[in-house]
Amino acid sequence: MATAALVQLFEGMKAFKGGDRQVRLFRPWLNMDRMLRSALRLCLPSFDKVELLECIRRLVDVDKDWVPESPGASLYVRPVLMGNESSLGVSSSTRALLFVILCPVGSYFPGDAMSPVSLLADPAFIRAWIGGVGNYKLGGNYAPTVFVQQEAKRKGCEQVLWLYGPDHQLTEVGTMNIFIYWTHEDGVLELVTPPLDGIILPGVVRQSLLDLARTWGEFRVAERKITMKEVTRALEEGRVREVFGSGTACQVCPVHRILYQGKNLHIPTMENGPELILRFQKELKAIQVRCTRWEVSWLHVSPEKFTSHVD
Ligand SMILES: *Cc1c(COP(=O)(O)O)cnc(C)c1O
Repeated sequence: MATAALVQLFEGMKAFKGGDRQVRLFRPWLNMDRMLRSALRLCLPSFDKVELLECIRRLVDVDKDWVPESPGASLYVRPVLMGNESSLGVSSSTRALLFVILCPVGSYFPGDAMSPVSLLADPAFIRAWIGGVGNYKLGGNYAPTVFVQQEAKRKGCEQVLWLYGPDHQLTEVGTMNIFIYWTHEDGVLELVTPPLDGIILPGVVRQSLLDLARTWGEFRVAERKITMKEVTRALEEGRVREVFGSGTACQVCPVHRILYQGKNLHIPTMENGPELILRFQKELKAIQVRCTRWEVSWLHVSPEKFTSHVD
């Protein structure tokens, strides 16, 4: 078991119970793809994505009574893969342990009252870098962040806004991807998130928000570098509408304050509705309990009850 502690990766996804009592996993193929990419990056034995997903489907089916029905609640699914070669050296594992933990979780925002978070943006701490492994869900990326998270708490902030580079690019919020809904410098209303350039974790919710917004076609949707200088100027000029994080745990989480270079920057997310956040939450929930879109990327836990929906 010597390398078990060294070589580890994980995934996180959710199963939801719909009004029809059908249990569905949200776009689980995206998690399987990401997990296999992580395994290959760590030189762990690979696995059959289809087979693993079928194992997870059967596991969730066995435990389907544990999938909560209350609004916003779900069954969290945590697959883990770790090397357990019996050797002390850092080398490729020929043996690995793959297991899946399930846990019922309540709504991230109890009572449906969405509470915004405050962020510590300190360029002294770096989560990921070009040439590194920030775009994989590896255990090694997360342990070092606990200290920084505590530092944020000490400074009166709830989460960390991870900056990168001399121009202080915004990369991620804690373990969420970041989005800004604003009027860009060129006067165009847009939703922007950093591009998948190697330091950003390719989130399933991130992809889903981009997919939704592009389907609506009501404002520009961009994947582009965002710097603190741009954000500060946009705040001064009153162009920022909403800032939020996206991830499986919360789906979409509003940001109302950023502590940056000793100054508290107020973000008017809540004053602006938050219109876009609420719309995303509503659309995602509708998809998660009714399955009206992305049918092909859904996994119905009990296929014998499968009924196809058409938009
Ligand atoms: C897991 C994770 C996310 C969100 O990914 P989802 O698939 O949307 O849950 C974003 N950033 C980091 C650093 C993560 O670990």
